[in-house]
Parts: sequence; C-alpha cells; structure tokens
Amino acid sequence: MTWHAVIGIEVHVQLRTATKMFCSCAIPAEGDLPNSKTCPTCLGLPGALPVPNKAAIEKVLAVGSAIGAAAPATTIWDRKNYFYPDLPKGYQISQLDFPLAAHGSIEVTTSTGTSQVRIRRAHLEEDTARLRHEKGSDGRRSSLIDYNRSGVALLEIVTEPDIRDAETARRYAEELRLLLRTIGAADAEMENGQMRVEANVSIRPSEDAPFGTRTEVKNMNSFRSVEKAIAYEIARQAGILEGGGSVIQETRGWDEGSETTYTMRAKENSHDYRYFPEPDLPPLTITADWLSQIVAAIPEIPSVRRGRYVTQLGLSAYDAAVLVGEPHAAALFEAARSTDATIDVKTLANWVTGEYLRAAHDGAEAPDPAQFAALVGAVSRKDINGTTGKELFAELLNGPFDVRKAIADRGLGQISDQGALRALAAEVLAAHPQAREDWKAGKHQALGFLVGQAMKASKGRGDAAQLGEVIRALLDS
Ligand SMILES: [Zn+2]
Repeated sequence: MTWHAVIGIEVHVQLRTATKMFCSCAIPAEGDLPNSKTCPTCLGLPGALPVPNKAAIEKVLAVGSAIGAAAPATTIWDRKNYFYPDLPKGYQISQLDFPLAAHGSIEVTTSTGTSQVRIRRAHLEEDTARLRHEKGSDGRRSSLIDYNRSGVALLEIVTEPDIRDAETARRYAEELRLLLRTIGAADAEMENGQMRVEANVSIRPSEDAPFGTRTEVKNMNSFRSVEKAIAYEIARQAGILEGGGSVIQETRGWDEGSETTYTMRAKENSHDYRYFPEPDLPPLTITADWLSQIVAAIPEIPSVRRGRYVTQLGLSAYDAAVLVGEPHAAALFEAARSTDATIDVKTLANWVTGEYLRAAHDGAEAPDPAQFAALVGAVSRKDINGTTGKELFAELLNGPFDVRKAIADRGLGQISDQGALRALAAEVLAAHPQAREDWKAGKHQALGFLVGQAMKASKGRGDAAQLGEVIRALLDS
C-alpha cells in the first residue's frame, strides 16, 4: 500500500561569530588543545555571569527577516535544565516562549517542483561541551570532557511538519545552508559538525489521516545522508506497519556504513527539561530602529536572486541555480556585470559556472571583475577565440592586468578576415599534399588534421569553425 510521510526538520547551526554566546572566549578551531578556549562563564563556575553576544543576536534577527519571520518586541532567555557532564552549569541558556524569529518560510525547489516549507521558530542557544570516551593504557575506560565548545552560539531552526518526502528534506537543508551563508550568519559545514540536522519522521495511510507515531533521526553528516536516512526510515516504518506491528517513538541514529537507522534512546519529552526564565539575564528589547538597520544590511536572498536571473536576465533555471548556489560565484557574476552593462549575460554565466568555478574548486581566488568582464566581452564578440580566452583567464587568476591591451600587444586577436583565412588554408594544403589525397579517397579525418595544422600555423588565433569551412571548400574545388 501507499504510505504518506510527514517530516519535520530541526537544524542546529553554529553562528559565524568571533566569540562565544555569553562570554568573550574565542570560537575553538580544529587542532585546539582541549579546554584551552574556556573561562569561568563557559565552565559554569559559581559567580560567573553571562553577557549576551550582540552579533549573534543580530545574525538570528537577520535570518528571521530573510525567511519572513516575525521578531518579538521583547524576548527573554530561559534555562533548559538537564543533568549531564557536557553541561557544566546543569542547564543550557536557550529560548522557549519568545524565540527571536517565528512563523517564516523557505522556498524549496526539487525535481518535482517548488514548495514553501514553513518555519515554526528560530532561536538562540549555547552549545555543550564534548565528551570523549577512551580506554587508557591500563585498560580502564575513562570519559574526558572538552569544554572548548561549551557556550558557542547556536541557532536552532524548526520547521512545521510540512515536508512530504526525503528529497524535499534534503533540498530544504541545502537551501537553509545557502541562505545562512549568503547572509553571512553561518558557514554551516555539515562535515565539520557546524550544522546538525535532525528529522522527525512518521507515516500515515492517507494525506488526511492523523499523524502516525514519529521517530527522530540524528547523526546524518551530509546532505546525501539526510535524504537516504529519511527514505530508509519511511520504508522501515512502512515495513513495521504492514507487518501488523507499531512504530515506537524513539531517537534513532543513522549509520553511514550499513545505511540503516538504529535505536539510540527512548524519546524524552520536552517537559522533562523544566524550563524557567534565566534570572541572570534581563529581558532583551528589540527596537524598530535596531531591527531596520539589520534588515537594511541583508543581501538579496537566494530564491529571489534565482527568480531575477531567470525572469530578468533570461538565464536558464539550471544556470541560475548553479550561480546562486555558490555565493562567491554570484558575487563575481554581479561584480563583472556592474563594470560592463552591455556584457552578454549568458556568456558571462557560462564563464563563471564553468572556468571560474572549476578554478575556485581547485583553490583559486576570484579574478579581477573588470578584467574578467573585458575577457568575457572579447570572447563573446569573437575578438579572441575560446582557447585564447582560457589562457588569458588562467593568467588573470594570478593577478589583474589590462586584458584589452594584452590582446592588442600580443596580437592575440582572432583571425576572422576571409582573405587571411584562405591564405592560411592554402599554405597548409600545399604543405600536406597527402591529406588532399586522403580526402579525395574518402578519409574524412583528413579535414580535422588540416584544421588542426591551420590552427597551429595561426598560433591558435584562427576560428576553427571558419577554417574548417574554408579548407573544405578548397578541398572540394
Ligand atoms: Zn568562556
């Protein structure tokens, strides 16, 4: 039978800030010594008081505005209490009733269409310490605690249960990451644990049936595993129900190796946490002025930009998605356009998504936008051919230079004068009489050989397509 899945996604993402959420400790980096980025506040020592990080609050307000969510006029902080060694104070400072953003949405495009995923809430909280369980040289097991991550600012974003399939869940997570990166709120590298995705998954026999019992799936460390884990979980629950069993509400982990989910623990309910208002922090007032300054600084968000590229610039949906999918590529595209309003946008998009992104993936920095625009302009006007363009582009990655001057000084301009092309063709035909014989004998590869020779003779400045026509006409004459 057909089952209808209901999926909600909860994401925790580390905000891009210089310091932690409630103290001035630096954000720990890969390779830091354990417990080297700590202070009395993030170690939870008695008497230490929290001071909120303004930049973190502003980033969450920016995210809220970008997803069309409402910010409260005043918010408070809450203590979420639980006892575990990764939590030095015995509670985590979070937000319960007045999140910094509520009721927004994110547009998600999948292979089957575009839909809106509603965001229930987004709030700020602090990260916990990390536990490491090891066996010592004496064979005894010990647990070590690294408080470096304790107090790092986290944004928690929770959707409504709007998602109906695993692909949409993956695309939602990807779109959220792109939005966070575009705004500069977070780097959100899933592989580095900067973005953690959890999915609540249940199934029901029809779209209007009540929700089934849900499981929470964790430990997915890539976008691909988000999709695979949810698809697996939907199939697992269907198997249980079709076999006459019932789904147990629990937290399940995704095992990348076996591509299955496994029981981690029985689900706790949120009332176990005994939330209460944080007495060490006063309520936070968000003035209209402050909020409007934050909103004014938000760049164009990805879904709006993609729409503009398609409807106003006439780019394909695919090119628009690739360009917008990499904020640095979109930035180069925009910067190059701004230096030359007449540039052919499709050629520019091809060069950014092709040559530039290839180089960027190999670690190259973006080229000077004005010179890059000059290069793309020269190619689209056929002043130079594609091969010469690629050579100049490689040079441009090492630093800016005057592309137009280089084309003129080095005589790189493409030979498109018919007389010059015919002279080149005649020269090559005279030098390779055998090729003419081969052509007459029906060996068509002779033409390709002659075009190659002519391109070589022109030092790469010929137009291969035009040369082909000219040589063919001579061969047939
Ligand atoms: Zn600290």
